[in-house]
Amino acid sequence: MARFSNKVAIVTGSSSGIGRSTAVLLAKEGAKVTVTGRNPEKIRETVDEILKNGGKSEDVNIVIGDLTESECQAELVKSTLERFGKIDILVNNAGAAFADPSGKVGTESNLGLFDDMLKLNLRSVIELVQKCRPHLIASKGDIVNVSSIAAGPSPFVYYTYYGVAKAGLDQLTRCMSIEFIPFGVRVNSVSPGLISTGFLNAVGFPNDAVRKTEEYYASQRDCIPAGRTGKPEEIATLIAFLADKNSSAFIIGQSVVIDGGTSLALGMPSHDLSKVL
Ligand code: NDP
Repeated sequence: MARFSNKVAIVTGSSSGIGRSTAVLLAKEGAKVTVTGRNPEKIRETVDEILKNGGKSEDVNIVIGDLTESECQAELVKSTLERFGKIDILVNNAGAAFADPSGKVGTESNLGLFDDMLKLNLRSVIELVQKCRPHLIASKGDIVNVSSIAAGPSPFVYYTYYGVAKAGLDQLTRCMSIEFIPFGVRVNSVSPGLISTGFLNAVGFPNDAVRKTEEYYASQRDCIPAGRTGKPEEIATLIAFLADKNSSAFIIGQSVVIDGGTSLALGMPSHDLSKVL
């Protein structure tokens, strides 16, 4: 029997990148999946990929909308229950970092940006968990949040507000895990490093700048010791592991780092002293 047979999953932000790979993997392994995002063409591409990988169209539910709006959230839950009757897995993946159009970074960037960043990356997660709560308790389900190594402990000044939102998400993961475990619901999260997705495009980088940024960081051992950016499929594999009680039942409230070594890299040990002496 496939690993996620008879399971129903909602994967937010599944029109692209990590969310798309997660929806495809869960569906490939037997889950019925609700896919969602604002962009209908990109959601269609996700559905096509699910079907190409052996998923059935009757096992895919589509909701187009903005996750920061309560109506979209309500529709996600309602249509999933109407189509599939329950919710076993909630993957809170949708997220983004927005650049200040003025070019300012850190605490110089405007506070509207801070509000938007918190609304998408943190508040929308709390709201969707509230809406899914009775259904996840009924199924003794699993929640996997998608955080970031930008949450810390190292500061990413370019993404200060985004990092603050994701740090809040990490604490939310810990608090919710203790709140929910008496009901048999687990909460964990993943913290990726630099992964090749639409993330930098969403920040506002043109394709050429995305390529240059990824190639540059991949070539610097003190940025990504693994020497390459991550693939969305690699994050999906970890999310599926954390969503699968048979594999990870005793992992509660953790944020698992998956970053090719970035968060361990310090400048000094990355330089070859033999070339200096
Ligand atoms: P992508 O930009 O490829 O995907 C982001 C997804 O979020 C899209 O499906 C997008 O859908 C959705 N989304 C964004 N805003 C909204 C909104 N207001 N309403 C509904 N959906 C929304 O990036 P990733 O796959 O990389 O991002 C997935 C998660 O991974 C995010 O939480 C991100 O913070 C995190 N992450 C990414 C890293 C990376 O290097 N790529 C590193 C660390 C963490 P649509 O545009 O259709 O609305």
